[in-house]
Amino acid sequence: QAPSVAIIGAGMSGLSAATRLQQAGLQVTLFDKSRGSGGRMSSKRTDLGTFDMGTQYFTARDPDFVAAVAQWRAEGWVAEWQPRLFRYDEQGLAASLDQQQRFVGSPRMTALSRGLLGNLPLHSSTRVEQLQRIDQQWQLRDSAGEQYGPFDRVIVAIPPAQALPLINDITALAAPAARSEMEPGWAVALGFSAPLELPYDAVFVRQGPLDWIARDASKPNRGSAETWVLQSTPSWAAAHLESEPHAVVAELVSAMQAVVGAPLPAPTFQHAHRWLYARPAALSDWGALAAPAQGVYLCGDWCLGGRLEAAWLSGQHAAKALLETA
Ligand code: NAD
Repeated sequence: QAPSVAIIGAGMSGLSAATRLQQAGLQVTLFDKSRGSGGRMSSKRTDLGTFDMGTQYFTARDPDFVAAVAQWRAEGWVAEWQPRLFRYDEQGLAASLDQQQRFVGSPRMTALSRGLLGNLPLHSSTRVEQLQRIDQQWQLRDSAGEQYGPFDRVIVAIPPAQALPLINDITALAAPAARSEMEPGWAVALGFSAPLELPYDAVFVRQGPLDWIARDASKPNRGSAETWVLQSTPSWAAAHLESEPHAVVAELVSAMQAVVGAPLPAPTFQHAHRWLYARPAALSDWGALAAPAQGVYLCGDWCLGGRLEAAWLSGQHAAKALLETA
C-alpha cells in the first residue's frame, strides 16, 4: 500500500511536494496554521482590490520549473508581468529595463497556490506542535490538542525556526535547520483615489528603508484602482520589528516620497504586514533535508536559495527523496 504523507506547511514548497506525491499516487494531507494555503504567496483582499503582500513576482530558470510555469500559464493561474522597471540609488532614479521574464499569479498571487492546492486535503488554521513516533509511524498533535494520523512519512515545509521544535530530536535535520536564519520584512499596501502618474511600475530601491516599490495594479488582471505595495529591507524590518503598523506605514510612505521625489497624495487605504520570516539570510544548496530512517523531510526556499523557484524545487527534492523509500 502507498505510504500516507503529512505535509506541514501549504506554501510553495509544501504544495510542490504535495502535487508531486499526489501524481505518484500517494495519499497526502496538508496542514497549515493560517486560514488558507499559499504562505508568503499572499494576497490581501480589500474593497479596492487585492494587494500581493509577500511574493511580488517570480522568475523561472531551471528547466523543470520553466515547464511547470508553462503549465500554470496554460491553466490560467499565472501570467507574465512586464513592469516598467526603475532603480533608485545614490545617483537617484533611473530606468532599469532588462530582458528577464517575470510572472505573477493571476488575478492575484494566491491564484497560483489555489490552483496547486486543487482538491488536496488541507487542515487550515491548524498549528502542528508535535510529531510523535508511534510504531514506525507519525502522529501529529496541534496547538488545540487535536491528534492527526498516523502517517507513514512527514514533510515539514515551514521556515526553519518553526520547523525546529517539531524535529528537534532528529539531528540530521535539526542541526542545519538551527543554522538557518530567516530575515524579516515589512510590507505596506497603499491605495490612492487617483493614478499617481509615475513613469514606472516598480522600483528596485538601493537606498534607505525600502527595498521595493510596485504598482500592484500594473500586474495582469488586477482591478483599476491605484494600488501600490512597498517592501522594506530586512535590516530596516529587523530594527523596527516591534513598531506599530501605523508608524511603519508613515515611515515607509515617507521613504517612498523620497524615491518619487515629490509629495504623495494622502492614501485612501493603508495596511502594514510584518513578515517575521521573509527570506533566508544566507544561501544554501541542500535541495531538501532528509532523515529517511525516520521518514521525515524538510524543504523550503531556505534549503535552496530564497526565491519562489527555489521553494518549488525544494519541494520536488523532498518528494523525490521520499519516493525513493516509498
Ligand atoms: P530578478 O531576477 O528580477 O531579480 C533579482 C535581483 O536582481 C532583484 O532583487 C534586484 O536586486 C536585481 N535586479 C533584477 N533586475 C533588475 C533591474 N532591472 N534593475 C535593477 N536591479 C535588478 O528576480 P529573482 O531572481 O526571481 O528574485 C526575486 C527577488 O526577490 C530576489 O532578489 C530575492 O532576494 C527577493 N526576495 C525578496 C523577499 C522579501 O521578503 N522582500 C523574499 C524572498 C525573495
